[in-house]
Amino acid sequence: MESLAFDYTRQDAAGTSCTAQAWAQVPDPVSPAQAQALKAQAAELLRARGAVLVAHYYVDGHLQDLALETGGCVADSLEMARFGRDHAAQTLAVAGVRFMGETAKILSPEKTVLMPTLEATCSLDLGCPADDFAAFCDAHPDRKVVVYANTSAAVKARADWMVTSSCALEIVGHLKAQGHKILWAPDRHLGRYIQEQTGADMLMWQGDCIVHNEFKGIELQLLKEQYPQALVLVHPESPRAVVELADVVGSTSALIKAVVEGQAQDYIVATDNGILHRMRQLAPGKNLIEAPTAGNGATCKSCAHCPWMAMNGLRNLISCLESGSPSITVDEPVRQRAQACITRMLDFTAQLKTRAALQSGMGAA
Ligand code: SF4
Repeated sequence: MESLAFDYTRQDAAGTSCTAQAWAQVPDPVSPAQAQALKAQAAELLRARGAVLVAHYYVDGHLQDLALETGGCVADSLEMARFGRDHAAQTLAVAGVRFMGETAKILSPEKTVLMPTLEATCSLDLGCPADDFAAFCDAHPDRKVVVYANTSAAVKARADWMVTSSCALEIVGHLKAQGHKILWAPDRHLGRYIQEQTGADMLMWQGDCIVHNEFKGIELQLLKEQYPQALVLVHPESPRAVVELADVVGSTSALIKAVVEGQAQDYIVATDNGILHRMRQLAPGKNLIEAPTAGNGATCKSCAHCPWMAMNGLRNLISCLESGSPSITVDEPVRQRAQACITRMLDFTAQLKTRAALQSGMGAA
Protein backbone atom coordinates (compact mmCIF):
# COMPACT_ATOMS: atom_id res chain seq x y z
CA MET A 1 0.00 0.00 0.00
CA GLU A 2 1.58 3.30 -1.07
CA SER A 3 -0.94 5.63 0.49
CA LEU A 4 -4.17 5.81 2.38
CA ALA A 5 -6.50 8.77 2.64
CA PHE A 6 -8.65 8.98 5.75
CA ASP A 7 -12.25 9.86 5.07
CA TYR A 8 -13.36 11.87 8.08
CA THR A 9 -16.81 12.38 6.57
CA ARG A 10 -17.40 8.61 6.81
CA GLN A 11 -20.38 7.86 9.05
CA ASP A 12 -20.85 5.19 11.67
CA ALA A 13 -23.88 2.88 11.85
CA ALA A 14 -25.87 5.67 13.53
CA GLY A 15 -25.06 8.06 10.66
CA THR A 16 -22.61 10.17 12.67
CA SER A 17 -19.18 11.23 11.45
CA CYS A 18 -16.15 11.36 13.76
CA THR A 19 -16.17 15.16 13.68
CA ALA A 20 -19.86 15.29 14.55
CA GLN A 21 -19.16 12.95 17.47
CA ALA A 22 -16.42 15.26 18.66
CA TRP A 23 -18.53 18.42 18.31
CA ALA A 24 -21.27 16.72 20.34
CA GLN A 25 -18.81 16.35 23.23
CA VAL A 26 -17.58 19.95 23.23
CA PRO A 27 -18.39 21.52 26.63
CA ASP A 28 -20.85 24.41 26.81
CA PRO A 29 -19.23 27.84 26.97
CA VAL A 30 -18.94 29.41 30.42
CA SER A 31 -19.70 33.00 31.44
CA PRO A 32 -16.84 35.23 32.68
CA ALA A 33 -18.05 34.82 36.28
CA GLN A 34 -18.25 31.03 35.93
CA ALA A 35 -14.81 30.96 34.33
CA GLN A 36 -13.37 32.91 37.25
CA ALA A 37 -14.81 30.48 39.80
CA LEU A 38 -13.87 27.38 37.80
CA LYS A 39 -10.32 28.60 37.26
CA ALA A 40 -9.91 29.20 41.01
CA GLN A 41 -11.18 25.67 41.70
CA ALA A 42 -8.87 24.15 39.08
CA ALA A 43 -5.88 26.13 40.38
CA GLU A 44 -6.49 24.79 43.87
CA LEU A 45 -6.75 21.22 42.55
CA LEU A 46 -3.52 21.62 40.57
CA ARG A 47 -1.82 22.82 43.74
CA ALA A 48 -3.26 20.02 45.88
CA ARG A 49 -2.14 17.37 43.38
CA GLY A 50 1.27 18.90 42.79
CA ALA A 51 0.31 19.04 39.13
CA VAL A 52 1.24 21.43 36.34
CA LEU A 53 -0.99 22.31 33.39
CA VAL A 54 0.50 21.96 29.91
CA ALA A 55 -1.81 23.46 27.28
CA HIS A 56 -1.75 23.82 23.50
CA TYR A 57 -2.35 27.12 21.72
CA TYR A 58 -5.53 25.74 20.15
CA VAL A 59 -7.44 24.93 23.35
CA ASP A 60 -10.01 27.10 25.11
CA GLY A 61 -8.64 30.52 26.14
CA HIS A 62 -9.59 29.99 29.80
CA LEU A 63 -7.40 26.89 29.92
CA GLN A 64 -4.53 28.80 28.31
CA ASP A 65 -4.90 31.58 30.91
CA LEU A 66 -5.08 29.08 33.75
CA ALA A 67 -1.89 27.36 32.56
CA LEU A 68 0.01 30.65 32.53
CA GLU A 69 -1.46 31.85 35.83
CA THR A 70 -0.44 28.63 37.64
CA GLY A 71 3.12 28.22 36.36
CA GLY A 72 2.31 25.84 33.53
CA CYS A 73 2.83 26.49 29.84
CA VAL A 74 0.94 27.27 26.65
CA ALA A 75 2.94 26.10 23.68
CA ASP A 76 3.20 24.13 20.46
CA SER A 77 3.67 20.37 20.66
CA LEU A 78 7.49 20.58 20.64
CA GLU A 79 7.60 22.92 23.64
CA MET A 80 4.83 21.00 25.41
CA ALA A 81 6.96 17.85 25.18
CA ARG A 82 10.05 19.63 26.50
CA PHE A 83 8.21 21.43 29.28
CA GLY A 84 6.47 18.28 30.54
CA ARG A 85 9.70 16.29 30.51
CA ASP A 86 11.76 18.93 32.31
CA HIS A 87 9.24 20.15 34.91
CA ALA A 88 9.64 18.84 38.45
CA ALA A 89 5.89 18.15 38.93
CA GLN A 90 5.07 14.45 39.15
CA THR A 91 1.62 14.97 37.63
CA LEU A 92 1.12 16.61 34.25
CA ALA A 93 -2.36 17.75 33.24
CA VAL A 94 -2.29 17.97 29.46
CA ALA A 95 -4.92 20.08 27.70
CA GLY A 96 -4.73 19.20 24.04
CA VAL A 97 -5.26 16.02 22.05
CA ARG A 98 -4.40 12.49 22.98
CA PHE A 99 -1.07 12.18 21.19
CA MET A 100 0.20 15.11 23.28
CA GLY A 101 -0.62 13.25 26.49
CA GLU A 102 1.00 10.12 25.07
CA THR A 103 4.15 12.03 24.18
CA ALA A 104 4.32 13.37 27.75
CA LYS A 105 3.94 9.85 29.16
CA ILE A 106 6.50 8.39 26.74
CA LEU A 107 9.08 10.95 27.88
CA SER A 108 8.19 10.79 31.58
CA PRO A 109 6.93 7.28 32.38
CA GLU A 110 7.31 7.89 36.11
CA LYS A 111 4.84 10.80 35.97
CA THR A 112 1.06 10.64 36.04
CA VAL A 113 -0.37 12.22 32.90
CA LEU A 114 -3.99 13.34 33.22
CA MET A 115 -6.17 14.65 30.40
CA PRO A 116 -9.65 16.22 30.50
CA THR A 117 -10.75 13.59 27.97
CA LEU A 118 -9.07 10.73 26.14
CA GLU A 119 -11.62 11.06 23.31
CA ALA A 120 -9.78 14.10 21.99
CA THR A 121 -7.98 12.68 18.97
CA CYS A 122 -6.70 14.12 15.70
CA SER A 123 -7.57 13.39 12.07
CA LEU A 124 -3.89 12.75 11.34
CA ASP A 125 -3.68 10.16 14.11
CA LEU A 126 -7.01 8.58 13.06
CA GLY A 127 -5.83 8.44 9.47
CA CYS A 128 -2.62 6.55 10.19
CA PRO A 129 -3.48 3.20 11.83
CA ALA A 130 -0.40 1.46 13.25
CA ASP A 131 -0.84 -1.83 11.37
CA ASP A 132 -1.28 -0.18 7.97
CA PHE A 133 1.65 2.09 8.70
CA ALA A 134 3.87 -0.85 9.69
CA ALA A 135 3.04 -2.53 6.37
CA PHE A 136 3.95 0.69 4.54
CA CYS A 137 7.31 0.78 6.36
CA ASP A 138 7.95 -2.92 5.70
CA ALA A 139 7.49 -2.27 1.99
CA HIS A 140 10.18 0.43 2.01
CA PRO A 141 12.98 -0.73 4.28
CA ASP A 142 15.54 1.49 2.51
CA ARG A 143 13.97 4.71 3.85
CA LYS A 144 14.39 6.60 7.13
CA VAL A 145 10.98 6.74 8.77
CA VAL A 146 10.05 10.26 9.85
CA VAL A 147 6.70 10.83 11.54
CA TYR A 148 4.94 13.95 12.62
CA ALA A 149 4.12 14.36 16.32
CA ASN A 150 0.41 13.91 15.49
CA THR A 151 0.54 10.11 15.56
CA SER A 152 -0.11 7.34 18.05
CA ALA A 153 2.58 5.90 20.29
CA ALA A 154 2.49 2.71 18.19
CA VAL A 155 3.26 4.65 15.00
CA LYS A 156 6.08 6.55 16.71
CA ALA A 157 7.43 3.20 17.92
CA ARG A 158 7.94 2.26 14.28
CA ALA A 159 9.73 5.51 13.37
CA ASP A 160 13.36 6.58 13.31
CA TRP A 161 12.54 10.24 13.94
CA MET A 162 9.62 12.23 15.25
CA VAL A 163 9.32 15.84 14.11
CA THR A 164 7.01 18.77 14.78
CA SER A 165 6.28 21.62 12.40
CA SER A 166 8.86 23.68 14.34
CA CYS A 167 11.77 21.45 13.39
CA ALA A 168 10.68 19.26 10.45
CA LEU A 169 12.57 21.29 7.83
CA GLU A 170 15.84 21.13 9.75
CA ILE A 171 15.58 17.41 10.51
CA VAL A 172 14.62 16.36 6.98
CA GLY A 173 17.35 18.66 5.61
CA HIS A 174 19.84 16.99 7.94
CA LEU A 175 18.77 13.49 6.83
CA LYS A 176 18.97 14.49 3.17
CA ALA A 177 22.49 15.84 3.69
CA GLN A 178 23.43 12.41 5.08
CA GLY A 179 22.14 10.81 1.87
CA HIS A 180 18.95 9.30 3.31
CA LYS A 181 15.65 8.80 1.52
CA ILE A 182 12.59 9.52 3.67
CA LEU A 183 9.32 7.76 4.36
CA TRP A 184 7.07 10.52 5.69
CA ALA A 185 3.78 10.30 7.60
CA PRO A 186 1.07 11.29 8.01
CA ASP A 187 0.39 14.90 6.84
CA ARG A 188 0.60 15.10 3.06
CA HIS A 189 0.53 18.92 2.92
CA LEU A 190 3.32 19.40 5.45
CA GLY A 191 5.26 16.60 3.74
CA ARG A 192 4.91 18.26 0.33
CA TYR A 193 5.99 21.62 1.75
CA ILE A 194 9.09 20.07 3.34
CA GLN A 195 9.89 18.12 0.20
CA GLU A 196 9.70 21.31 -1.88
CA GLN A 197 11.84 23.27 0.58
CA THR A 198 14.54 20.63 1.08
CA GLY A 199 14.49 18.70 -2.20
CA ALA A 200 14.59 15.46 -0.18
CA ASP A 201 13.38 12.18 -1.68
CA MET A 202 10.16 11.68 0.33
CA LEU A 203 7.53 8.98 0.04
CA MET A 204 4.31 10.30 1.58
CA TRP A 205 1.47 8.90 3.60
CA GLN A 206 -1.75 10.63 2.53
CA GLY A 207 -3.22 12.05 5.73
CA ASP A 208 -4.42 15.56 6.47
CA CYS A 209 -5.58 17.83 9.25
CA ILE A 210 -9.28 18.61 9.04
CA VAL A 211 -8.69 22.19 10.14
CA HIS A 212 -5.86 23.19 7.82
CA ASN A 213 -7.08 21.13 4.88
CA GLU A 214 -10.19 23.32 4.73
CA PHE A 215 -8.46 26.63 4.12
CA LYS A 216 -9.21 27.79 0.60
CA GLY A 217 -6.76 29.48 -1.78
CA ILE A 218 -9.34 31.27 -3.94
CA GLU A 219 -11.18 32.78 -0.98
CA LEU A 220 -7.88 33.71 0.65
CA GLN A 221 -6.88 35.56 -2.53
CA LEU A 222 -10.16 37.53 -2.37
CA LEU A 223 -9.55 38.34 1.29
CA LYS A 224 -6.04 39.53 0.48
CA GLU A 225 -7.52 41.91 -2.06
CA GLN A 226 -9.75 43.37 0.69
CA TYR A 227 -6.73 43.81 2.99
CA PRO A 228 -3.84 44.54 0.61
CA GLN A 229 -1.53 45.62 3.45
CA ALA A 230 -2.12 42.47 5.51
CA LEU A 231 0.57 39.88 6.13
CA VAL A 232 -0.67 36.34 5.45
CA LEU A 233 0.44 33.77 8.06
CA VAL A 234 -0.02 30.12 7.11
CA HIS A 235 0.60 26.84 8.91
CA PRO A 236 2.27 24.35 6.54
CA GLU A 237 -0.44 21.71 7.13
CA SER A 238 -2.50 23.83 4.70
CA PRO A 239 -2.94 23.01 0.99
CA ARG A 240 -0.38 24.30 -1.52
CA ALA A 241 -2.75 26.97 -2.94
CA VAL A 242 -2.92 28.53 0.54
CA VAL A 243 0.80 28.19 1.33
CA GLU A 244 1.62 29.89 -2.00
CA LEU A 245 -0.18 33.04 -0.82
CA ALA A 246 1.69 33.21 2.49
CA ASP A 247 4.10 35.88 3.66
CA VAL A 248 5.10 33.65 6.57
CA VAL A 249 4.84 29.84 6.67
CA GLY A 250 5.55 28.26 10.03
CA SER A 251 4.58 26.45 13.21
CA THR A 252 2.15 27.96 15.71
CA SER A 253 5.08 29.46 17.64
CA ALA A 254 6.54 30.93 14.45
CA LEU A 255 3.18 32.48 13.49
CA ILE A 256 2.78 34.06 16.94
CA LYS A 257 6.31 35.48 16.69
CA ALA A 258 5.46 36.90 13.25
CA VAL A 259 2.49 38.82 14.71
CA VAL A 260 4.40 40.04 17.76
CA GLU A 261 7.44 41.22 15.79
CA GLY A 262 5.72 42.22 12.52
CA GLN A 263 5.45 45.86 11.48
CA ALA A 264 2.09 45.41 9.75
CA GLN A 265 -1.24 46.31 11.37
CA ASP A 266 -3.33 43.57 9.70
CA TYR A 267 -2.66 39.80 9.72
CA ILE A 268 -4.64 37.09 7.96
CA VAL A 269 -4.15 33.91 9.99
CA ALA A 270 -4.51 30.46 8.40
CA THR A 271 -4.39 28.08 11.32
CA ASP A 272 -6.75 26.96 14.09
CA ASN A 273 -8.48 30.07 15.45
CA GLY A 274 -7.70 29.00 19.03
CA ILE A 275 -4.31 30.64 18.43
CA LEU A 276 -5.93 34.10 18.22
CA HIS A 277 -6.35 34.19 22.02
CA ARG A 278 -2.60 34.17 22.63
CA MET A 279 -1.89 36.41 19.63
CA ARG A 280 -4.29 39.05 21.00
CA GLN A 281 -2.65 38.91 24.42
CA LEU A 282 0.87 39.24 23.01
CA ALA A 283 0.09 41.75 20.28
CA PRO A 284 -2.83 43.90 21.48
CA GLY A 285 -3.99 46.46 18.97
CA LYS A 286 -3.11 44.40 15.91
CA ASN A 287 -5.92 43.38 13.60
CA LEU A 288 -6.19 39.58 13.29
CA ILE A 289 -8.37 38.19 10.53
CA GLU A 290 -9.28 34.51 10.22
CA ALA A 291 -8.45 32.97 6.85
CA PRO A 292 -11.51 31.57 5.03
CA THR A 293 -12.29 27.87 5.28
CA ALA A 294 -15.12 27.57 2.77
CA GLY A 295 -16.66 29.45 -0.11
CA ASN A 296 -20.14 30.95 -0.15
CA GLY A 297 -22.72 28.28 0.50
CA ALA A 298 -20.13 25.63 1.25
CA THR A 299 -19.85 23.79 4.54
CA CYS A 300 -16.82 23.09 6.65
CA LYS A 301 -16.12 20.29 9.11
CA SER A 302 -13.97 22.32 11.45
CA CYS A 303 -14.60 25.96 10.43
CA ALA A 304 -11.03 26.77 11.50
CA HIS A 305 -11.32 25.19 14.91
CA CYS A 306 -10.36 21.65 15.82
CA PRO A 307 -13.33 19.81 17.37
CA TRP A 308 -10.98 17.56 19.37
CA MET A 309 -9.06 20.48 20.83
CA ALA A 310 -12.42 22.08 21.63
CA MET A 311 -13.36 19.07 23.79
CA ASN A 312 -11.03 20.39 26.51
CA GLY A 313 -12.74 22.69 29.02
CA LEU A 314 -12.46 23.90 32.60
CA ARG A 315 -15.13 21.50 33.88
CA ASN A 316 -13.61 18.30 32.48
CA LEU A 317 -10.17 19.49 33.60
CA ILE A 318 -11.54 19.87 37.15
CA SER A 319 -13.17 16.46 36.94
CA CYS A 320 -9.90 14.75 35.94
CA LEU A 321 -7.97 16.59 38.66
CA GLU A 322 -10.55 15.55 41.27
CA SER A 323 -10.71 11.91 40.28
CA GLY A 324 -7.20 11.36 38.91
CA SER A 325 -8.78 9.98 35.76
CA PRO A 326 -8.57 9.62 32.85
CA SER A 327 -4.84 9.13 32.74
CA ILE A 328 -2.58 8.09 29.90
CA THR A 329 -0.98 4.66 29.77
CA VAL A 330 1.42 3.37 27.12
CA ASP A 331 2.64 -0.24 26.88
CA GLU A 332 6.25 -0.32 28.02
CA PRO A 333 7.83 -1.95 24.92
CA VAL A 334 5.97 0.54 22.69
CA ARG A 335 6.93 3.41 24.98
CA GLN A 336 10.62 2.54 24.87
CA ARG A 337 10.69 2.35 21.08
CA ALA A 338 8.67 5.58 20.72
CA GLN A 339 10.91 7.34 23.21
CA ALA A 340 13.95 6.79 21.01
CA CYS A 341 12.53 8.74 18.06
CA ILE A 342 11.22 11.59 20.25
CA THR A 343 14.48 11.89 22.17
CA ARG A 344 16.40 12.00 18.88
CA MET A 345 14.32 15.05 17.90
CA LEU A 346 14.69 16.76 21.28
CA ASP A 347 18.47 16.24 21.27
CA PHE A 348 18.74 17.51 17.70
CA THR A 349 16.68 20.65 18.41
CA ALA A 350 18.63 21.32 21.62
CA GLN A 351 21.85 21.23 19.58
CA LEU A 352 20.32 23.63 17.04
CA LYS A 353 19.42 26.03 19.85
CA THR A 354 22.91 25.86 21.34
CA ARG A 355 24.49 26.48 17.95
CA ALA A 356 22.17 29.45 17.28
CA ALA A 357 22.95 30.91 20.71
CA LEU A 358 26.71 30.55 20.12
CA GLN A 359 26.43 32.15 16.69
CA SER A 360 24.39 35.09 17.99
CA GLY A 361 26.91 35.52 20.83
CA MET A 362 29.77 35.52 18.34
CA GLY A 363 27.90 38.00 16.14
CA ALA A 364 27.39 40.34 19.06
CA ALA A 365 31.03 40.24 20.13
S1 SF4 B 1 -5.84 20.91 14.53
FE1 SF4 B 1 -5.55 19.29 13.00
S2 SF4 B 1 -3.50 18.49 13.43
FE2 SF4 B 1 -4.18 19.63 15.27
S3 SF4 B 1 -5.18 18.10 16.55
FE3 SF4 B 1 -6.80 19.02 15.34
S4 SF4 B 1 -7.00 17.66 13.54
FE4 SF4 B 1 -5.04 17.21 14.52
